Parts: sequence; C-alpha cells; structure tokens
Amino acid sequence: MRIGAHVSASGGISKAIDRGVAIGCESLQVFTHNPRTWRPINHKDAEIEAFREKAAAEGIGPIVSHGLYLINLGAPDEEVPTGPPGKPAKGMRNIYRSSVESLVQHLEIGERLGLEGVVLHVGSSRNSTMEESIARIGAGIAEAFAASPGECAVFLENTAGAGDTIGRTFEQLRDVEAAIGSSDRVGFCLDTQHLFASGYDVASPGGMAKTLEEFEAVLGPGRLRCLHLNDSKVELGSNRDRHENLGEGMIGEEGMADILATPALADLPLILEVPGQDGNGPDAINIDRAKAWRDAA
Ligand SMILES: [Zn+2]
Ligand SMILES: [Zn+2]
Repeated sequence: MRIGAHVSASGGISKAIDRGVAIGCESLQVFTHNPRTWRPINHKDAEIEAFREKAAAEGIGPIVSHGLYLINLGAPDEEVPTGPPGKPAKGMRNIYRSSVESLVQHLEIGERLGLEGVVLHVGSSRNSTMEESIARIGAGIAEAFAASPGECAVFLENTAGAGDTIGRTFEQLRDVEAAIGSSDRVGFCLDTQHLFASGYDVASPGGMAKTLEEFEAVLGPGRLRCLHLNDSKVELGSNRDRHENLGEGMIGEEGMADILATPALADLPLILEVPGQDGNGPDAINIDRAKAWRDAA
C-alpha cells in the first residue's frame, strides 16, 4: 500500500510534490486544472520537468490526477444556457463537448507529467435517460483516448449515489466500460466513503475484502488501480458524499484498521481526500493514522 493524499497544486504543479512530501505521502493525487473553470492551466515545461524530477527523487508514486468536477460526459450533447441557477444566463455551452475537450486536456497533461491516470467521476444522467447517458459517456471517453495517444489511463470512480450520478454500483461501472469499447486505458478507483454511502458496508470486519470480491466478480481481476481512503460523516446507504478524517467518522477506527489490513489492497495507492484537522485538506495526522493501521496489520 502506498499511502498518499490529494494535495494542492497552486503556485505551480511541482509544488504539489513538496506538499505531499511535507505530510508524509508515498503516492499522490493532484488537480492539473483549476477546479472552478473550464479554461486549462498553461503548465510550463520547466514546471513539468521539476514535477517529474522531484517525484522521482522523493520516490513518490503512483501519481494520479482528479478530473475537473465540471466534467459531465453524461450530459446531453446540446447547447444549454450557463450561469448560476436563478440568474439570467451568461451564455450558452455544450457541457458534453466541453467535457470531452477537457478530458483530452487532462490526458495530455497527464502524459506529460507521467501520471498513471485521471480519476474521473462517471457522470450524471440528469436531463437524459440512464441508457443514453451511458452510451454518451462511453463514446466520449473513447473519443478522448483517440485524440490523446499515450498511456495515461482513465480511472472511473464510484459515487456515493446522490441524485442522478452514475457509478453507484459495480454493475453500472461495468456498463460504462462496455460502452467505451475495447481499450487498455480503463481502470477503476473506489472511494471508501462513496462505497459506504452507496450501501457497501466497508466498516464491518472483513467488509472491504468482501466488497472487493464483489467488485472482482463484476469487473474482473486487476481492474482496481486506486483507492480513495476516506471516513464518512454520514451513515451506511445515505447516498451522500461527505468525507471525514480517518477514524473520526461512521467507518471509525476499527473499520479503518480493517480496511488497511485488507491484503487485496497491497499493491494500490491509497489516496486521502479528508478535511484535515484544520479544514485545509489531508494532513500529516491523517497520513500517520493510515500508516499506523497498515503497519500494525
Ligand atoms: Zn472523486
Ligand atoms: Zn474520491
């Protein structure tokens, strides 16, 4: 297990490595885009080189990025008014086309940075049917792969199951993969909080191992490429995406210790996306807890 965290890349992507090292990360997740806007960051060659050099020097890896939250490949392929709800529209945008374009950018910068993959929320079927959305998501990812040759993969992440989000069950993830068609650039990322919120009881003894067996039965062996390690502010099956510091939530210390003792996770990056003790995101305290449970197992 390579314990790591989502860290800020502000001030230059290579600073993410410094931040990860400062809190004890062994692996890492970053945003390669500014999370609030579609406009991509113009990463300078020197920053990319510094990122790769520091990661190699510090032995940090695997490193993944998390896709922009604005991306929704399940959105209808049509122009819609944009802007905050209840206010006059600021303009028109085709969310689907913007999402494909952004995914291409994520894969291109991921390739330049040497990332294993882009963790991607599958999408939402809002304003569409589930079948139509899944078909569009598959076509969109296939198009993005074709437009960005390389090895950087897409890791589809399970959701907490809120609203019309797709990916709350392993069967839905399987359907999305089938819609992409043949590709060796698709993997999966499971988030422990999302699993718990969507009804997979990873807090009970042996719960994670059993969940991974179910995952493998649906998606096959070797398909899990990343685990998001988060405790949950909300109850089992509550379908809400609310992360908590490790051991302080409904999964709790015993549940977390059990997850960190799961042999099937041995070769994976375990990425924390927790609020942190001061609300500024993953910190050394949370990382140390994860390492202590792992090392005790
Ligand atoms: Zn996510
Ligand atoms: Zn996550």
